[in-house]
Amino acid sequence: MIARQRSGKPKLRPKSIEEPARQIPLYGEYEVVVLGGGPAGIAAAVASARAGRRTLLIERYGFLGGMGTAAGVTNFCGLHANVHGEMHRVVQGIASDLLDRIDRLDGLNAPHLILGKILAQAYDTAAYKIAADDLLAAHKVDILFHALGAGVAMHDATRINALMVETRAGRQAVRADVFIDCSGDGDLAAWTGARFEVGDNAGSMLYPSMMFRLNGIDPEKAGDAWRTIPALMEQAEASGTHHFPRKAAIVRPQRSQISTASSPTISRVARSRAAARLSRPLNSCARCRDLKNPTSSTCRRNSASAKPGA
Ligand SMILES: Cc1cc2nc3c(=O)[nH]c(=O)nc-3n(C[C@H](O)[C@H](O)[C@H](O)COP(=O)(O)OP(=O)(O)OC[C@H]3O[C@@H](n4cnc5c(N)ncnc54)[C@H](O)[C@@H]3O)c2cc1C
Repeated sequence: MIARQRSGKPKLRPKSIEEPARQIPLYGEYEVVVLGGGPAGIAAAVASARAGRRTLLIERYGFLGGMGTAAGVTNFCGLHANVHGEMHRVVQGIASDLLDRIDRLDGLNAPHLILGKILAQAYDTAAYKIAADDLLAAHKVDILFHALGAGVAMHDATRINALMVETRAGRQAVRADVFIDCSGDGDLAAWTGARFEVGDNAGSMLYPSMMFRLNGIDPEKAGDAWRTIPALMEQAEASGTHHFPRKAAIVRPQRSQISTASSPTISRVARSRAAARLSRPLNSCARCRDLKNPTSSTCRRNSASAKPGA
């Protein structure tokens, strides 16, 4: 509804309002505050705690892992590298601690080749979340979930006094000697007035991938989909029905048969095995998730006619 003045002319609404000054409660004072709970934030918080610093990690969602869990990325790239013609795991340290924990939860696959040249390691996102919680808890890192970093109060042009966070309890302030920006987008650095560049300075940024999940996939048959999907994308583009910024697909196995994901640029396929512990309710049949018959003899998948790995 458009507000009108008495004259009948539309009333121009102001483009901004003034927020009254207010006192912000202090959530806490730390030696180190990390903004963002993705892989960078997890590593920064653990490293800080290992150095004996009282550390707080602030994350807007209710779980850790960043895009690795929130966006369904579901595999680690970059842990391995081609060293003089041989693939080697070159990233260790805190990454190994995290991967070991995911593995202990039966949520980690063996490395697999994607796009014919990169070794990637797929994981179950639920296992990643739990393993990351466990890693931070083991190092006594405080975590503030569901808290959106929203700005800073500066001491002076170069030193942060406090980080402002929006929480269900309202706006709060957090003080620290050191703030580490692991927001993935450089939010904290930008709020302080630090100089930054976006994309390639020509207006282009990384193209997005569409993430989706597929269940009940035969991994053997799907194994070569990273070759056939691009060919189908080429065909679709040639026929004029679609246009893709990149014609590639990454297909990778998941530990959990019921949790699989894919996209035109990135796709995943369930590994042929019983449903992973983490993905089914406790007290359900491991194969068909039948809650009533945990050791079900009526389980379709246990019957002789069931196709192995289907
Ligand atoms: C679609 C897609 C596919 C990808 N595919 C792969 C792949 O196959 N393999 C691979 O290894 N990498 C992949 N990547 C890249 C990988 O996800 C990133 O390199 C990695 O997530 C970067 O980690 P990070 O911790 O720096 O940031 P992020 O993972 O982005 O984590 C940032 C965290 O900070 C939080 N946050 C941000 N702003 C605020 C705020 N203001 N207040 C509170 N919290 C905040 C976010 O919620 C998030 O949890 C992919 C990325 C995308 C988006």
